[in-house]
Formats: sequence, C-alpha cells, structure tokens
Amino acid sequence: MPAIVLDRVSRIYGKDVRAVSDLTLEIPDGSFTTLLGPSGCGKTTTLRMIAGLDMPTMGTIRIGDKLAFSIEEGQNLAPAKRGLGLVFQSYALWPHLTVAQNISFGLEVQKVGKAEAAQRLDQVATALQIDGLLGRYTSELSGGQQQRVAIARVLVMQPSVLLLDEPLSNLDATLRMDMRAELKRLHFETGATIIYVTHDQLEALTMSTHIALMQGGKLQQFAPPLDVYSHPANKFAADFLGNPRINLLEGKIENGLIRCDGLDVALPSDIAAAANSAVTLGLRAEEIRLHNEPKSGFAPARVTAVLPTGSDWYYHVQMNGQTLTVRQSGGPQLQLGDEVHVEATPDPIKLFAADGQALAMAPGPVLP
Ligand code: ADP
Ligand code: MG
Repeated sequence: MPAIVLDRVSRIYGKDVRAVSDLTLEIPDGSFTTLLGPSGCGKTTTLRMIAGLDMPTMGTIRIGDKLAFSIEEGQNLAPAKRGLGLVFQSYALWPHLTVAQNISFGLEVQKVGKAEAAQRLDQVATALQIDGLLGRYTSELSGGQQQRVAIARVLVMQPSVLLLDEPLSNLDATLRMDMRAELKRLHFETGATIIYVTHDQLEALTMSTHIALMQGGKLQQFAPPLDVYSHPANKFAADFLGNPRINLLEGKIENGLIRCDGLDVALPSDIAAAANSAVTLGLRAEEIRLHNEPKSGFAPARVTAVLPTGSDWYYHVQMNGQTLTVRQSGGPQLQLGDEVHVEATPDPIKLFAADGQALAMAPGPVLP
C-alpha cells in the first residue's frame, strides 16, 4: 500500500494565489520522494498539508490506512496523530541543553521508559555519527553537526514518514555533499518513507528514488530521477534537470527527419510527429559529438569556449547563432576558434511538440 496518497489536492490562498493545483500523487511506502521545483512552485505548501500544518482547499490526503484529510468526510487529523516527523530548513535546537538532552526531549514528553529511551538515543546517535558529541551543548557544534542533531531528534521518535524541507540549504557545499550521502544511507538503514523538499536538481537526482517535479503549483512529472533525466515529460522537466542545462533546438519534421537548421536526426518510427510540424529537440551535453570533417546531417559550428573540468572537457560551440554546450570525456582535442561539425546523438530522443509536451512517451509510472 502506498504510504501517502494525495488525491486532487489544491491550496488556494486568499482569492487567487493557487499555491498548489489539483495535485494527485502516490508516494510509495519506503521511497525517498523529492518534491522538486523552483522557488514558489508549491513544495512547502504540499509538505505542510501532508503534515497537517495547513489545510487543502480541496482534495483528500491519506497516510497509510489513515484518512488524514477530506472535506467531504469532514476529516482533518491533527499533526501529532499523523505519525510523521518533520525537519524544517531552520531547525531550533535548545542551546542550553546538551545534544543528548535535545534528542531525548521528545521521548520524555511521550513518557518512553528510561531503558528504551537510552537505547534509542544510542541507536540514532550512532547512525548519524554524533555519538561522540552527546555531552556537548548544541551552541558548541558546527552547522553540519547541528543539522544532524536536528534530524536525530526527529528520528528518535521513530516516525514511519520523515518530512524534510530544504534541510541542507544553510550548509556549505562540501558539507551538503556529505549530508546527502548520510541522508541516503539513513534512508537505506531505516527503511522510512522520506519526503524531501528541495529546489536543487542535483540534490534530487543524487538522493531520491522518486522525483515529483512541480512548477506553478502543478505536478509536471513523477518518476525515478534517471527517468526524469532521460524521459522528461515536457520541456520544463528537460530544462530543469541536468547540469549543464540541456540544449534545446528548434526544428521541423521533414521526410522522416528532425531537422534543426542543418543538424538532422532520424525520427524514430515510434514517435508520432506530423510532417512539417514544429518541434523542439533536446540534446544533453553528452549527446553531441564534434567532428573535424563535414557529413550529411552534421551542422557546421565554431568553438567559442574550452572548459576543462579535470575528467571531462566542456565546449561551447556556436551553431547558427545558437550556443550549444558539449561534453567530451578525454581531451584536449579542440581549441578556441576551431571549425567543427556537430553531430546529434540523442539517446533516447527527447522531442517536444509546440505545446512543450514530450512526443516520445516517458515510461509508465513505476511501482516501488
Ligand atoms: P516553495 O516551497 O516551492 O518555494 P511555497 O509552497 O512556499 O513554495 O509557496 C507557493 C506559493 O504560495 C507562492 O506563490 C507563495 O507566495 C504562496 N504562499 C505560500 N504561503 C502563503 C500564505 N500563507 N499566504 C499567501 N500566499 C502564500
Ligand atoms: Mg519552500
């Protein structure tokens, strides 16, 4: 049974701020599901509605076999009865309490027995590698350590679902990387369902089992990260995930080819695109090859930037007034100003109709 089901959930603030519109989502039990999207797209509102801190204007929310919210049935389960643990971006730890006291506080409130409380404290502290810090005051900890204490404080309550709203955004880049790995390990070890909010596409790609991509309060795609990356449901999804950003080329369907100003790609037979229709072809940086010699279907271009990163070489090439980003492993092969011939090698093809929707169908919804 899915852990959490949102059925046609909307949240309208005031008269016309549609924070979340008609959101239907089945978050699988045990998944690490990330709500991803630009600032203001409705991620926090969604999380708050799941937590019971905000009420949908319409729709139904189920958590496991509990009906958490439904207007028709007059149901609005209190946050404490939803069995969820919450960690928000700004975590308030008590500075006058030790790490151990901070983590154990909730257990005392719930009157968990001394022996069990000690055992649980020991367990989470070990899992989060803060067992050496238990006697310290939280004011003596680094940002990353405080973050781990904040997560430990929630985990010790053994929630079956953990809700995290941009918990790493206050940390520096290195620490963020470490914490990503740690959260992923934590998910693996506890088997808890994690709902994670971030605007950082890399964070979503690296950590999640599922990404719910949102824009303007609406769900754009719900799929495992690599499916969103390889089979984006629309132009927005193609553009939002991936670094460097995907190259988007305007083109036209002609004679079984996708033709983009001299750059041609064969139209796969399973894609239904009408002759002469306008399309957009998405090419990731690794789906472009640069050649010295021309060939039919290749487009001439000039190298305008050479950007080595150690393992890979990134090039910018100017093709028909458009700058493409190209990634090649190995190198250096090309110099600034070189004349090259661009070959498109999309795999799989990411092709979008004039309305921005993918013409190549994404794989169906995946089961946990
Ligand atoms: P995100 O977390 O993705 O950045 P939010 O869920 O916080 O986005 O907000 C979604 C939209 O709803 C935004 O346009 C925001 O300004 C609006 N919004 C959020 N909370 C309120 C509120 N309490 N009153 C009015 N508008 C709100
Ligand atoms: Mg937010």
